Amino acid sequence: MKNKEIKILLSAPRGFCAGVERAIEIVKKSIKKYGAPVYVRHEIVHNKYVVDSLKAIGAIFIEELEEIKDKTRPVIFSAHGVPKAIPLQATKYKMEYIDATCPLVSKVHREAENLYKAGYHIILIGHNNHPEVIGTMGQLPEGAIDLIQDEHDVEAYELDQNKKIGYTTQTTLSIDDTQNIIKALKKKFPEIKAPFKEDICYATTNRQSAVKNIAKQCDMFFVLGSRNSSNSVRLVEVAEQAGCAHAELIHSESEIPFEQLLNCKTIGISSGASAPEILVEDFINKLKNKFQIKIEEVEIIKENIVFKVPSKLN
Ligand code: SF4
Repeated sequence: MKNKEIKILLSAPRGFCAGVERAIEIVKKSIKKYGAPVYVRHEIVHNKYVVDSLKAIGAIFIEELEEIKDKTRPVIFSAHGVPKAIPLQATKYKMEYIDATCPLVSKVHREAENLYKAGYHIILIGHNNHPEVIGTMGQLPEGAIDLIQDEHDVEAYELDQNKKIGYTTQTTLSIDDTQNIIKALKKKFPEIKAPFKEDICYATTNRQSAVKNIAKQCDMFFVLGSRNSSNSVRLVEVAEQAGCAHAELIHSESEIPFEQLLNCKTIGISSGASAPEILVEDFINKLKNKFQIKIEEVEIIKENIVFKVPSKLN
């Protein structure tokens, strides 16, 4: 194996986005300010490595506020956003809370609220049960938002004729699939109101475009990220749709398919917005132990977006 040469096309940008960096920083700064433990509602970002490293410094992850035994401790809401009922519940429990919702998710929340106030019925394009979708739908009274997951849902969707409609989307969807859904919506409801600015975020857009740019040249494509990370799973799909015959998600329990790599000349690597760069480095180091590796980074755009943490943590 050791003589086998493999070229790695390293997709860039990849890995952490500004929303994820901010959410992790919020947990670290909260532990520093309040001491351990600090509770975090849901995985702060969908990555096991990140969650484990925060557990090690004093974060306790829970799914619902009821689970918190000591309610004198602060609680942080994850980057995916929460329904409005959650901060209200924290207030009822007299708990201090810190909201780590990504500002780009909050933007979608405000957009949905504005549409609702202007008398629109809202269609949210997204994945059922994803925490971001639960959070966005929970910004408004039940029945104000309908979820649409694909073009079949658009076909089957029936609307009261007297209603005006508008749409918003989850931030981490596939750009191409979403465009097709929007096209179908516009065909069925020509008057539908589009968001003022695209809801799929800059990080999702850049990571997908970067993968699309190189996937066709790759015999295999690997995306480092967790199984429950929407944007990581989308990157695998994008690599396949862009012409790579074999794309895989490499998550914490995955085995590297060394045998299959023997048939590869070029492989692609990217990582989801919640996956730290160390996972990419470890993966490449494992490959270096077995093969002769040449690395070429292919960057399509430089990112310089930074989101500030809440001022009370500074
Ligand atoms: Fe925010 Fe986009 Fe990152 Fe999600 S993927 S946390 S919306 S920047």
